Amino acid sequence: MINKFIASVLPYLPKKFVWIFSRRYISGKKIDDAVAASHKLAKEGIRVTIDHLGEYISEISQADEVRKVYLEMIDRFEKEGIQATYSLKPSSFGLQIDFETGYNYVREIVEKARSYGSFVRIDMEDSSCVDDELKLYQKLHDLFPKNVGIVIQAYLKRTPEDLEFLAELHSPEKPVNVRLCKGIYVEPENIAVKDRKEINSHFLEALDFLFQKGIYVGIATHDRELTDGAQELVKRYSLTGKNYEFQMLYGVTPELRKELLAAGHQMRVYVPFGEQWFGYSTRRLKENPRMAFYIIKALFYRG
Ligand SMILES: Cc1cc2nc3c(=O)[nH]c(=O)nc-3n(C[C@H](O)[C@H](O)[C@H](O)COP(=O)(O)OP(=O)(O)OC[C@H]3O[C@@H](n4cnc5c(N)ncnc54)[C@H](O)[C@@H]3O)c2cc1C
Repeated sequence: MINKFIASVLPYLPKKFVWIFSRRYISGKKIDDAVAASHKLAKEGIRVTIDHLGEYISEISQADEVRKVYLEMIDRFEKEGIQATYSLKPSSFGLQIDFETGYNYVREIVEKARSYGSFVRIDMEDSSCVDDELKLYQKLHDLFPKNVGIVIQAYLKRTPEDLEFLAELHSPEKPVNVRLCKGIYVEPENIAVKDRKEINSHFLEALDFLFQKGIYVGIATHDRELTDGAQELVKRYSLTGKNYEFQMLYGVTPELRKELLAAGHQMRVYVPFGEQWFGYSTRRLKENPRMAFYIIKALFYRG
C-alpha cells in the first residue's frame, strides 16, 4: 500500500525531490556522467553496458533523435577507451510503430558498435513486444552474430519455447548471447509466473539450459539465491569467463557485486543516463511499485 502510494505521488513532487530518490540508480543526465561513472567502475574491474533513458515515442520521426544519441554515445565511449557494450529498448526506435523503420535504426546502431568490435544488447520490454524483439534479434543475429544479444525473462510462461528457438539459432559460427533476468514488467497471470520461488526455479532451469547449449549468458540478478545457484552451475559445468558474466543495475547491491568480483567472476553494470531520467524513474515506479520500496530502503541501508 505504502509503495503504491509513493509510486503514485512521486510524479507530482518537485523534480529536485525525485532526483534525491533516483540519483543512486542513474549516472546523470549527460553522456559525460555515464563516462565518469564507467571510469569509476572500471577502476573496480567492472565492465559496463550503457543505456540512454528515453521516453516512449508516439511518432516514428522521434526515433531519429534517439539514433543520434546512440551513435554519438558509441563514438564517445570508444574514444574514451572504455570497455563498454550498449543496451537499447527497441520501442524507443519505433519498432512497435513501424517494424522495418525501427529495424533499420537498430541495425545502424549495431553496425556502429561493430565498427569498433563492440556489442549491442536488445533489452526485452513488456510481453506485447516479445515477438517483435525476438524477430529483430533473429534478423540482426543473422547479419552480426557476434555484435548483438537479446534478453530472456524468466517469469514469462513462454520462455522455455523462446529458449528452444534461441538454441536453434546458436552455432559456433553464429553464437547466441543471452542476458537472463527475472523480468520487470507487471504482466497478467496467464502470461507470467507471479510466485517468487517459482520464478527463481525457472531462472535456474533457464540458466542450466543455456549453459548446456554452450550459450554465453549475462546472469542479470541481485538475488543471492540466484547468484548462489548460478555459481553452483558454473562449478558443475567447469565454466570460465568465456561462458558467462554477472550483470547488475547501477547503484544496486554493491556489496554482492564486490563479493562476486572477489570470487573471480566477471561483472558488468548497467549504467543508465539521460535527460529523461524523471519520466524513466516515475514510469518504472508506476510499473512496479516495489521499486519504491527498494529506493526508500536504499536510502537507509547501504549494500
Ligand atoms: C543488468 C540488468 C539488465 C536488465 N534488463 C532487463 C530487461 O531487459 N528486461 C526486463 O524485463 N528486466 C530487466 N532487468 C530487471 C530484472 O528483470 C529484475 O526486475 C530486477 O533485476 C530485479 O530482480 P532480481 O533478480 O534482482 O531479484 P529481486 O528479488 O527483485 O531482488 C533481489 C534483491 O536485490 C535488490 N534489488 C533488486 N532490484 C533493485 C532495485 N531496482 N533497487 C534497489 N534494490 C534492488 C533488493 O535488495 C532485492 O531484495 C534487468 C536487470 C539487470 C540487473
